[in-house]
Amino acid sequence: MAETVRAPAEGQEFLAQVKRLVQQVQQVRQRGRLLLLFLDYDGTLVDIAPRPELARPTPDLLELLGRLTNRRDLRVLVVSGRPLAELKELLPVPGLDVLGSHGGEALLNGRLVRLTSPATDSGETQRRQEELTASLAPFSGWWLEPKPGGFAVHYREVPQGELPAFLARLAAWEKNVRAAGRVQLLAGRKVREVLPLGVSKGAAIQKILSLPGFRGRFPIYLGDDFTDESAFEVLRDRGLIIKVGGSGTETAAPHRLPHPQAVRSFLGHLAQLPEEF
Ligand SMILES: [Mg+2]
Repeated sequence: MAETVRAPAEGQEFLAQVKRLVQQVQQVRQRGRLLLLFLDYDGTLVDIAPRPELARPTPDLLELLGRLTNRRDLRVLVVSGRPLAELKELLPVPGLDVLGSHGGEALLNGRLVRLTSPATDSGETQRRQEELTASLAPFSGWWLEPKPGGFAVHYREVPQGELPAFLARLAAWEKNVRAAGRVQLLAGRKVREVLPLGVSKGAAIQKILSLPGFRGRFPIYLGDDFTDESAFEVLRDRGLIIKVGGSGTETAAPHRLPHPQAVRSFLGHLAQLPEEF
C-alpha cells in the first residue's frame, strides 16, 4: 500500500527534523539503553523574553515536563545559568533534577549536591565587583545581581544618551578582567556575568555522568547558549546533542532545531514513546 506523504503545514518544516531525532532516540531505547535528558531553559524550553522574569513556562510545558520526569526509562535535568531557587520557582515539577548557576548549584533527587569546585577565590570576584561599581558610579540604569560565586551587571535601562560613555567604561573593565584571566566573563544581551573559573555546565555534566543513577545512560542535550557549548564538548560522541536556534553560529553540536516550539514538539514525541521495547 502506498504511504501517504503529507506536506508539512506552513512554518512546520521542523517536523521532519524532529521526527529524525525521535527515531534516533527510539533506536537507542530499542538497544536497551536508558536515557538522560538535559534541557537548557531560556531559548530552549521557552522563548527568550525581553526581560528574564517574563520567560515563564506555560501549564502545557509543565505538564509535559511532568510526564517526561515520570517515565521509568528517562531522567530529566534542567541546566541553566539562572540561580537554582529561581528555576525551582519557575518549574514546580515533582522529581525534576535541576542544575542552576551554570552548574554551580545542583538539586538531584531532591538534595543539594556540589558538582563543580570554583577555582577562583571569592576575594578576586569581590575585587572585580568593586572595581566595576566604582567605574560605573557616574551612570544610572544599571544594577548588580549577586550570583552564587559571582555576580552579574545588567544595564538595559541606561539612558540612550549615556550609553556610549557607559559602554566605553564597561569595555575597559572587561579588557582588564580578560587579560588577568582569573575569572570567567560571560557576555549576554545587556548583561555581563562574572563566574569563578572551574564552574561550567560542561564540568557539572562531566561529574553527573559518573554518578550512580546517571552512569551508563544515553545523554541527550538541548541548548541554545554559548554556555551550552562546554556541555556539547563533553557529550560529543557519547549522545545526541542538539543546538537550538542561532542558525549559522558555530557549534560543537551535530544536530539543530530552529526554536523552542520545535524543542517542545520533540519532547512531546519523546513522552509518547513506549516505555518498554
Ligand atoms: Mg539558553
